[in-house]
Amino acid sequence: MSTPLTILKQVFGHDRFLGPQEAIIRHVLAGGDAVVLLPTGGGKSLCYQIPALLRPGTAIVISPLIALMRDQVQALTALGVAAGSLHSAQTAAERRSVEERLRDGRLDILYIAPERFMIPAFQDMLSGLPLALFAIDEAHCVSQWGHDFRPEYLQLAVIAERFPGVPRLALTATADGPTRADILSRLRLDDARVFATGFDRPNIRYLVEPKDHPKYRLLRFLTEDHPGQSGIVYRLSRKKVEGLADWLTAQGVPALAYHAGLNPAERDSRQDRFMREEGLVMVATVAFGMGVDKPDVRFVVHFDPPKSLEAYHQETGRAGRDGAPAEALMLYGEEDFVALRSLLLSDGANGPQQRITLAKLKALVTYCESDVCRRRTLLGYFGEDLAEPCGNCDICLDPVEAVDVTVAAQKALSCVYRTGQRFGAAHVADVLLGKQTARVERFGHAALSTFGIGGELSERQWRAVMRRLEALGALESDETGHGLLLTATAWDFLKGRRGLTMRLPRDPERSPGRRPRRSGSHRSWVDDYVRTPEERLLWERLRAWRSATAKAAEVPPYVVFHDRTLLDIVLQKPQDLAGLAAIGGMGQAKLDTYGQTLLEMLQEHYAAYGPGESRPPLPAGTVRPSRGDVASVTARQSLELYRDLGSVAAVAERRGLKSTTVYAHLLPFVRRGELAARQVAAVTEAEQAEAEAALVRLRQQGADGMTPVYDALGGRIPYEALRCLEAGLWAEGRLGKAAAPSSGVTPPVA
Ligand SMILES: [Zn+2]
Repeated sequence: MSTPLTILKQVFGHDRFLGPQEAIIRHVLAGGDAVVLLPTGGGKSLCYQIPALLRPGTAIVISPLIALMRDQVQALTALGVAAGSLHSAQTAAERRSVEERLRDGRLDILYIAPERFMIPAFQDMLSGLPLALFAIDEAHCVSQWGHDFRPEYLQLAVIAERFPGVPRLALTATADGPTRADILSRLRLDDARVFATGFDRPNIRYLVEPKDHPKYRLLRFLTEDHPGQSGIVYRLSRKKVEGLADWLTAQGVPALAYHAGLNPAERDSRQDRFMREEGLVMVATVAFGMGVDKPDVRFVVHFDPPKSLEAYHQETGRAGRDGAPAEALMLYGEEDFVALRSLLLSDGANGPQQRITLAKLKALVTYCESDVCRRRTLLGYFGEDLAEPCGNCDICLDPVEAVDVTVAAQKALSCVYRTGQRFGAAHVADVLLGKQTARVERFGHAALSTFGIGGELSERQWRAVMRRLEALGALESDETGHGLLLTATAWDFLKGRRGLTMRLPRDPERSPGRRPRRSGSHRSWVDDYVRTPEERLLWERLRAWRSATAKAAEVPPYVVFHDRTLLDIVLQKPQDLAGLAAIGGMGQAKLDTYGQTLLEMLQEHYAAYGPGESRPPLPAGTVRPSRGDVASVTARQSLELYRDLGSVAAVAERRGLKSTTVYAHLLPFVRRGELAARQVAAVTEAEQAEAEAALVRLRQQGADGMTPVYDALGGRIPYEALRCLEAGLWAEGRLGKAAAPSSGVTPPVA
């Protein structure tokens, strides 16, 4: 009998479910309604596709975009699933044939647009058929709170009345509180179970930088960090989109422009090229993206800032849906925020809506200016706590020391005051730096007491200080958005009641050797896994074969196989069909279609280069980049601070972490003998001797875990200290002789 797991393996070729997938599928199989909030790349589609295959009847999937439907139908067909779609871009004959399959019960899954569902004749036809379920994709479109509101979604509430007893799923990747409430009430899903998982996308590396020769920064990013890879570059206006796409093309980077000003046929054809071709850069307005279901988008660049953190999370979420490492780069300048502000205010909204818009913009500015881990700030905005810095954002990877800029803040505020509270940050910085510009001359600002008093910072750093003061509410924009005004809060700084500590942007002019460079650029994530020249060769051959196969079948390469699947073949080196069948992403249909060909290619390769050593597959779920040993970056920061400060408590306080986290950072160093256990554990020599004796004795007796040790010592020595002492025993080889693990909490006992 088929179960969710056997379908997962046979059809989709995966061994295990991710996150809440299985719980959702079981709930729907049992006839329940569900609201599914999963981040992009979290495997939303499987939540309705598997119940669709297991429940009798056809599953109806309502989706807002034709491109997305086409894509899903193509991918499902390649997996041997009977799927079809009905939409306005089909010929009458094509529609008739799909309708016939639907009526004859030969369709497992049917994708339709909401408009089609509202046609009475269509509903009549459906009501005579057995239906497996309704899935409403991009369900946030029902909410006016979000930015993708579609009025026709409101009418989907009728499903509840018209088709009682058929399970309904609403799915979305973006849902803050108000949107979530709208989905539940407007789609009449009051009895639905809500499945929400984290908004975290651990495989996406967040990079946020002030604009500094942005075009060349982008060019370096595209050609050095992501050569030959696909990605999206967002800009605010059509004109800017066209200009940047032309410029990139002239620089030899294959780029296309996409915006709402193009005619629909041209838009479709460009989207289609982006889906099918490898290594294409799409320069686009936000008109591009919803429903772009391309799994191997390796980067998303915001060349202009997004409109809010929700938009940022959603737009960057289009990168790395296959779970492999991807990068999100945002470039911003204060003039962008000024432009964005007036754009948002000109939208015509006023009253509470305008306040919401401005509050969202402010959160975005704070995110850019912040000196704490990006992921932590971003998730915090969605109400999620990240226990410790992520190790995979620019702040974590390239920390800049925070400095006290209280005096600089006072100088900036006082300069704003003396220039009459009518100029922007650029002019104020010019005055502070003593620049003889035309404006300075015209307004006689060289005579001010603040003229030329700011030589300690660069222009860029002054701007950063002012942006931070604005984020803290000490400065605000006047109604034109061009001038800065002091607020009551400003006087707290001016009178010395409040200080300011922040990380200043690095100053390339002053320290030419210290231009921000990210560790480990110039390499693709695949290089972390493909180690020998033979493996590299096999990888390239498999990719070339996939390219040719996709072209012949007129489908995008990822419909044939995802990168992950090819990479797993390279790593695991299967010898026969059974070995191939065990590869992630190799379902029965794929094995039947391509298995033999792949096997021949592999055998040819093994014959020429030897079979090589079979290596473990990629980890399930998302793959974090291993380059640069990112996981230990934050641990190394703790180590360095510990060497300075000498106690875990002091490190925890300085870094704003829990002391248990700092202990976890330091344990591997204790275990490798690089730190003295007693010092980290902060115990006396007598306590150490007593605890070590108890540890050795209890471990010899086969006691597991730390509780028996803790109890044996009467609870006088805390758990963390005991773990440290145990790690110290490992380092000295006094606890059995199995190799100590390099990380982890408690080493297993031999
Ligand atoms: Zn981080």
